[in-house]
Amino acid sequence: PPTALIIGAGIAGIATSLRLTKLGYQVQVFESNPHTGGKLHAIKQDGYRFDLGPSLFTMPHLVDELFQLFDEEPSAYFNYIKKENLCNYFWEDGTKFQVKESLPSFINDASLVFDEPKSNIKAYLDRNKLKYDLTQELFLKKSLHKTKTYLSANTLKAIAQVNKLHLYESLDQTNQRYFTNPKLIQLFNRYATYNGSSPFQTPGIMSMISHLEMYFGTFYPVGGMHEISQSLTRFAENQGVVFHLNAKVDEIVTDTKKVNGLKVNNQFYEGDIVVSNMDIFSSYSSLLKTAIQPKKTLNQERSSSALIFYWGIKKEFPELDLHNILFSEDYQAEFEAIFNEKEIYEDPTIYINITSKEDKSDAPSDAENWFVMINVPANYGQDWMQIRKKLRKQVIAKINRILNTDLAPLIESEYVWDPVEIEKSTSSHRGSLYGASSNDQMAAFLRHPNFSKQYNNLFFCGGSVHPGGGIPLCLLSSKIVSDCVSDLKLTYA
Ligand code: FAD
Repeated sequence: PPTALIIGAGIAGIATSLRLTKLGYQVQVFESNPHTGGKLHAIKQDGYRFDLGPSLFTMPHLVDELFQLFDEEPSAYFNYIKKENLCNYFWEDGTKFQVKESLPSFINDASLVFDEPKSNIKAYLDRNKLKYDLTQELFLKKSLHKTKTYLSANTLKAIAQVNKLHLYESLDQTNQRYFTNPKLIQLFNRYATYNGSSPFQTPGIMSMISHLEMYFGTFYPVGGMHEISQSLTRFAENQGVVFHLNAKVDEIVTDTKKVNGLKVNNQFYEGDIVVSNMDIFSSYSSLLKTAIQPKKTLNQERSSSALIFYWGIKKEFPELDLHNILFSEDYQAEFEAIFNEKEIYEDPTIYINITSKEDKSDAPSDAENWFVMINVPANYGQDWMQIRKKLRKQVIAKINRILNTDLAPLIESEYVWDPVEIEKSTSSHRGSLYGASSNDQMAAFLRHPNFSKQYNNLFFCGGSVHPGGGIPLCLLSSKIVSDCVSDLKLTYA
């Protein structure tokens, strides 16, 4: 059988390994870490378990599909539960709001708490659905870089209704069209952070991100987020995929128009096709040094990064759930600091994720495992040690104010990740979480295609290429790669 070599065992690399196996390739994956999963990794410390990277799981059917490709029942390998409470929101003035999974409950509750007409809330949610329905085929499921994508009926339908997509204004401006209450606007502005962008710059079409969460729901994987990457790794191994761990790829070996294989620890591996799941910037700068560099794409603004405190807290907080947000008082200033000044705003929004709310075994009894994340700029050489110290104090003070507690003495275990650590452990350029930001209308078109224009048997998957970052989009990138590889096989035939 033909061989496929994959660089990186992030979620997209693992998913691609399964899809290419299904296409009949013998697949080998080379991963520089001693483990698979990339950003989907976890640690155990002092009796606590922490997922290191992603904490929010949406569109689980995209994971299920990978088991179903092989006619297997997903639940034999991987299980998840639907959350009834999506997120708890807190503001400094004492306002609290819980977003329920049921849309009618959300409309009722939001109308009461934020004093907005139910009809406006419903109109907003309906428009988000329309945006998603019109554009998902074009932006998420197909290559944006193939002519046939633009000739499909779905694309023509989307183009005919382009005025409904809010492409030429910011997400904040779109949200202001529907709402007057600044807190509800802030709640919906937050969805820009799901792809590491600013609500004051990313286009209004991004309101459809909230649709993914509010319409399709949010889920918790049994065993934690880490189980997404680990169950798929085990399954891929069962299907014959070979994972080489501690195997850093040093070079993609190229001919004039095709690639021949990989150089790994001074050894050459020959392959019929190569797929890079490494960040696109790093793929070009370290593995494809002699290739034509797509400068505009590589110079795209990077998405935000994160500073995360993983805290073992020796107390239980009944007012918190799996997902919790403590909002900043000035959201615009917060994003200006992140994207314009490359600094951290003094009163940052805090996200607290607590998986021991779902699975008690993630923390000792009467304790909780807190994942406390702050959105920060990508790494431009800031003094992260200094920032960690300052932020730690600011974050604890804000939590104390809003939850009326004294947190510092309750922290009995601590681990920290910052943009430098994220880059070191996953090769994400500047430690950004989602590749390029979506801070302008053209971002989607500038993002690197899932194939190389120079080498016909080289492909790219993962959060830094089309269609973008986050687990669902990474999984979709694998699907597009597999479609491109099928086309290539047809050409060979
Ligand atoms: P990565 O996870 O980036 O993995 C790439 C892999 O390639 C790594 O394992 C790396 O070691 C390997 N590699 C790189 N170079 C080489 C080389 N030369 N040789 C061999 N191997 C190499 N997404 C969500 O959906 N929900 C969330 O809640 C969410 N929150 C996040 C929070 C944090 C703190 C972070 C960091 C990310 C978050 N994301 C979230 C984003 C999500 O984690 C990523 O979009 C996704 O996991 C990226 O997967 P990937 O396939 O692109 O590869």
